[in-house]
Amino acid sequence: MAYVISEECISCGACAANCPVEAISEGDERYVIDADKCCDCGSCASGCPVDAIAEA
Ligand code: SF4
Ligand code: SF4
Repeated sequence: MAYVISEECISCGACAANCPVEAISEGDERYVIDADKCCDCGSCASGCPVDAIAEA
């Protein structure tokens, strides 16, 4: 399982900077997580200011 970013995302970029495996990138409407790279560490979810990241 990987983490996913919901439409609550305000594109602040904090999660991308915190991801140890660079699985997060800026998409067209919000940031997105590459499920193949995500190692489920959870550090992105704890740092999101709007609680937009959760385990899928
Ligand atoms: Fe979006 Fe949250 Fe990531 Fe900021 S930390 S880019 S609000 S998912
Ligand atoms: Fe990156 Fe960890 Fe978030 Fe997965 S759970 S996207 S590895 S920070």
